[in-house]
Amino acid sequence: MKKELLKELEKQLLAEKERLTKELSEFAKRNPKNIEDWNAEFQNIGDKEDENAEEVNAFSTNLTLERTLEATLRDAEKALDKIKKGTYGICKYCNKEIDEKRLRARPSSGSCVECKKKFTQEL
Ligand SMILES: [Zn+2]
Repeated sequence: MKKELLKELEKQLLAEKERLTKELSEFAKRNPKNIEDWNAEFQNIGDKEDENAEEVNAFSTNLTLERTLEATLRDAEKALDKIKKGTYGICKYCNKEIDEKRLRARPSSGSCVECKKKFTQEL
């Protein structure tokens, strides 16, 4: 892979990591025993019945959001780790280089389009 492209994608990944970490820290706390793990915080709004219901609603929304953000953050961190190890941009299934267009669109991709289609049905 071209050095310039690698630098560019690394920059994108670092920005993504920062954005996700910031977003997560707004409503979740990092697990001190496992820095990859975040836990949504339960906010105490009040003790009335409707307030309690609101708390539960907010918590379940945050929980879903937390899981999505956490997974995306983990992907970005994995990709950054690969850059360090020099294995970035290689498909984890077939060991071929991942298409540049795909990496530009989603820098944390760990597999090529063909394998992704084959193994997960999603793009
Ligand atoms: Zn592949």
